[in-house]
Amino acid sequence: MIKYYNYPADKNVKLSEHFVVGEFVTYSDYHGNYPSSIPIDSGLPTMLEKVYSHFGCNRGEISSGYRTPACDKSAGGSGSGPHTQGIAVDVCFYRGNQPIPSRIIACYLQDIGIKGIGVYCGGTQNWTHFDMRTNSTWYGDERDYSAGHTDYYSYTGTAKSEVYDSGSSQSSTVMTTDPTVRTVQQWINNTYGLNIATDGIYGNETRKALVKGLQMVLNAKFGAKLDTDGIFGVKTKAAIQPCTKGTRGAYPSILQAFLICHGYDTGGFDGDFGAQTANAVVQFQKDKGLTADGIAGKATFAKLAE
Ligand SMILES: [Zn+2]
Repeated sequence: MIKYYNYPADKNVKLSEHFVVGEFVTYSDYHGNYPSSIPIDSGLPTMLEKVYSHFGCNRGEISSGYRTPACDKSAGGSGSGPHTQGIAVDVCFYRGNQPIPSRIIACYLQDIGIKGIGVYCGGTQNWTHFDMRTNSTWYGDERDYSAGHTDYYSYTGTAKSEVYDSGSSQSSTVMTTDPTVRTVQQWINNTYGLNIATDGIYGNETRKALVKGLQMVLNAKFGAKLDTDGIFGVKTKAAIQPCTKGTRGAYPSILQAFLICHGYDTGGFDGDFGAQTANAVVQFQKDKGLTADGIAGKATFAKLAE
């Protein structure tokens, strides 16, 4: 059933334990110009929670939810697809701050009866499209926009145990309360598909990899369209948006990764910008002679990336 919400009045309305209305209209889709009326299928949050609890997630990040027809077209859609009906999301689920591969999510969605699935959403390894269509089945692969697949297990070579033995197939890298440079290096390799040395030394290679990760996040989250070259230049600096306390997700993860590499205690590496991460930002800013406001903006990221 489609329910309509008002924006911004309802943006913080909880649809389920881990999802609020505002997450279904994303910055990367609207660049701040959000529509005032937002349709959301009431089954979507239920299904998101099913995946979330099945895999023991600590985060589910939506990169695209409801799109107006115009927004859908500018995102490369037809202007009338499932996103315009409020029945679709593009989402990445994380466990222990590690993204769960799309092929595994797609198999689970298939098993719980979801009829609209796009594996490797946007051509990426860890993002999945799914929608609540009821009258037909669409199993697609967004790497090549092929459709008509019938079984994601055989199609993607995924074993049942990867979907049902929680953790068995996942990377052994887990977030710790005492994260190290090595933890960050393993995380950046797993999350951004890089292959840097996991030697525990914060050198030029790790620094460039973190800048690359930051550029990918700025592109995905804010539509920045940066080259992901690992070079923190004027364009990257200009694309930085303030990262503030209370933020969760990929953006504060990158911030924590930088701070950890610079030897600051963020109170864990969990993508959750809490009090200890804010303290770490303030301390870093003081040490570098920046305005110590605890908000990671252009100047702070520039110093972190030096
Ligand atoms: Zn989609």
